[in-house]
Amino acid sequence: MKHHFPFFTANPSVTYLDSAATTQRLQHVIDSNQRFLATDNATVHRAAYRKATLATETYESSRAVLAKLINANSDEIVFTSGATESINMIADGLSTSNLVGTKILVCASEHHANLLPWQKLAKRLDLSIEVLPLSENGTFSPTTFEQWVKLIDEDVCLIACAHVSNVLGNIYPIKQLCLLANKYNAITVIDGTQAVAHLSVDMTDLNCDFYVFSGHKMYGPTGVGILFGKYHQLATMQVSKLGGEMVSNVSYQTFTAQPPPLKFEAGTPNITGVIGIKHAALFLMENFHQIISHERRLSQYLLQQLRKVNDLRILGNIGLSSVLNESAQINTNENIEAPEGNIGIVSFIHESADNHSLAEQLWHQDISLRYGHHCAMPLLSSLALGACLRISLGAYNDKTDVDRFISALLHSLGDIKNNDKKSLLLKNEM
Ligand code: PMP
Repeated sequence: MKHHFPFFTANPSVTYLDSAATTQRLQHVIDSNQRFLATDNATVHRAAYRKATLATETYESSRAVLAKLINANSDEIVFTSGATESINMIADGLSTSNLVGTKILVCASEHHANLLPWQKLAKRLDLSIEVLPLSENGTFSPTTFEQWVKLIDEDVCLIACAHVSNVLGNIYPIKQLCLLANKYNAITVIDGTQAVAHLSVDMTDLNCDFYVFSGHKMYGPTGVGILFGKYHQLATMQVSKLGGEMVSNVSYQTFTAQPPPLKFEAGTPNITGVIGIKHAALFLMENFHQIISHERRLSQYLLQQLRKVNDLRILGNIGLSSVLNESAQINTNENIEAPEGNIGIVSFIHESADNHSLAEQLWHQDISLRYGHHCAMPLLSSLALGACLRISLGAYNDKTDVDRFISALLHSLGDIKNNDKKSLLLKNEM
């Protein structure tokens, strides 16, 4: 798949393992942006001359493609600047007329983008925030889900949960979570940022109220994202951004907003971003089965290799020695099997090395991986960690990337050990 991504031709020595932070861009995406900017540039939704009509058609065709990608209706797809803006728009747009109850539940592994906006909403509407916990080492299991079930009742007005954790790689049973939430009329906001390029995502099947993701984590451009909302939710949600094109009528005193989705798209949008994300979605749809099976196989290989390294603590479900059953079926007791598999996000720490030095050594060998709290500070604190290393795979990674990483890891650990020995000898000599 590397041939679809010019980054790899330009940087043959780079082992790129940071797709959860941002993916590399598809040549198709770059070409479509180049074409639009060079020869088709015009604004959308405002004028009827030929190029403007064409631009609007192209823009709206992107909405239709994105709707198809997640099996939604076009008028349920709002273009935003990314997952962060999408969640903020939801949090700012909800009020007591949409929310029944006093508690917001957030999963313990949420990215700050799916936590801070809820803190703001909780303050604004005087709600409390409670946490859907994880088990030891950040794992999710049927027992964990039983704990979640106990927390979901008529006091809950909203549940915010990622489809896939950006740190742990855990895939959460969103369909079952939404089933429970719906029973108590709690609104569900699912952060699909790490899921949409790696899993089959179907709004009719998941039945969530809101689902958000970003273009740059699915081989598309930065600065564009999706806010899916069920039409009736979008229709009743307040707009937080006001300005041109989102209105059907304006007087000096007041205005009438357009129906969704346009009421949420004030101002001139990121047209190139929207065109780019369409081509990313088309690529995913065309290559979906191949990508998924390839990523699953490569993740398994990565794990096999990582498990051979002594003293490595792998976090989350992927750190479990026996892999849980994939069929996430809910039974009459609302018990659940944790969804198995890994979409290629693996976080770990070495128990006896200085992990920051380890990351630095890997960076020096051109291994692009992340070290830090991954915008999930509360999760890291709950695991008694300040930071961890994270590898995240994309459709373009292959066995050679994993082998290069493992060999660099062993090399770095060897170097760290030798340096430790040297400094111990020096210490003893002093
Ligand atoms: N949610 C998750 C799970 C993420 O991984 C990220 C990006 N790291 C975000 C939200 C925020 O995405 P963006 O910065 O594109 O808005």
